[in-house]
Amino acid sequence: MKRDRSEQLYTEALELFPGGVNSPVRAFRSVGGTPLFFTRGEGALLHDVDGNTFIDLCLSWGPLILGHAHPAVVEAITKRVALGTTFGAPTEEENKLGRLIVDHIPFVDRVRFVSSGTEAVQSAIRLARGATKRDLLLKFDGCYHGHVDSLLVNAGSGLATFGTSSSAGVPEELAKLTLVVPLNDMDALETVFREHGAQLAGAIIEPIPANNGLLLQERTFLQRLRELCTAHSTVLILDEVISGFRVGFRGSFDIYGITPDLVTYGKIIGGGMPVGAYGGRLDLMKQVAPEGPVYQAGTLSGNPVAMAAGLAQLTECLKPGFYEALEAKTATLCATVNTHAKAKGYAYHLDHIGSIFWGFFADADHIRRADAIESASMKTYAKLHAALLERGVYAAPSGYEVGFLSSAHTDAQVQQVALAMCEALDEVM
Ligand SMILES: *Cc1c(COP(=O)(O)O)cnc(C)c1O
Repeated sequence: MKRDRSEQLYTEALELFPGGVNSPVRAFRSVGGTPLFFTRGEGALLHDVDGNTFIDLCLSWGPLILGHAHPAVVEAITKRVALGTTFGAPTEEENKLGRLIVDHIPFVDRVRFVSSGTEAVQSAIRLARGATKRDLLLKFDGCYHGHVDSLLVNAGSGLATFGTSSSAGVPEELAKLTLVVPLNDMDALETVFREHGAQLAGAIIEPIPANNGLLLQERTFLQRLRELCTAHSTVLILDEVISGFRVGFRGSFDIYGITPDLVTYGKIIGGGMPVGAYGGRLDLMKQVAPEGPVYQAGTLSGNPVAMAAGLAQLTECLKPGFYEALEAKTATLCATVNTHAKAKGYAYHLDHIGSIFWGFFADADHIRRADAIESASMKTYAKLHAALLERGVYAAPSGYEVGFLSSAHTDAQVQQVALAMCEALDEVM
């Protein structure tokens, strides 16, 4: 595989950006080698600057549920962009996307658009704190919520649930306001609420944790979290930046039926443009400025180009059978690879939910906790990643990241991916 041009560009980028990139995981540090520079995407395909073509399983880390350059999205953006990109004043496009969300998501009475998932989460936790007049937050080890200061925390050592900052620049005083417990640990959940429930402003969780492997939770765990939040008047924030509009239009609600007080969106909601959103219960959303005392604002929030892209994408997602078809394709991919792995005796398994999938190197059907992932297996992932690239498949450049299929992936392309994965496993296992 030719990489000359990507290597040249990366060498230049290293003189321009920290680590040569504008978001860390793009740098290929965990798989090694040079990141690829892309020129063009069409449907399921990605073309790089050296003339290589790949079937894309990363899809810009989740937003592109229709694949690259879907005609409806391209048309919506093109039409809208010529009329001016932003006015810093309301437009009808905001109403249309807002209406689509409020009408279809039963627990969203009001929504506020922002420009990223991080911004959505940061705003939601400020709202939770403002509305409850409490300071403590609860998060779960293995969930990612963007680069929000209060959530860049790890569990403290031993049994301590008070967090310690996981990034330089996050004051320990702030990190201490976040409590961290493991996923799928009912005892730890009960304990943290028993000891701190009365001070907890909010509890935030990815109901479908998909940023540190795919750590599918049991419904009983999410249900118990819901009950404890209700009992302690703690705001339950479901972070659906990945899972929203991905596993069903209503995200995890379509699978577990758990109702949050606040929900955060990003990725798919913007149709490939920078959009995030938070929304939820009327009494909470009424606390947001200018209606209430919780301040939050954004120069480009709800700009008409981004709104038009999101509206076009979500309109496609609402077509009958959309999610069923995506799920069926993903199930086929996983079953084919899992059957092969089993026949060959490889300790490798692909788990999936909807069109999100993740492969891990263990003899199990699911992994449900972050600390159950073998960090040593990431060396094997690096080899698998390289073997897939050689076979024209672009998977996420980290073994902790999930893969996605889009509606643009044809059955033939899915078969090609399955074959490449089986061959790549034969090569590395
Ligand atoms: C991607 C992601 C975020 C952060 O969104 P950005 O748009 O990258 O800021 C937050 N939460 C979850 C669950 C995510 O997957």
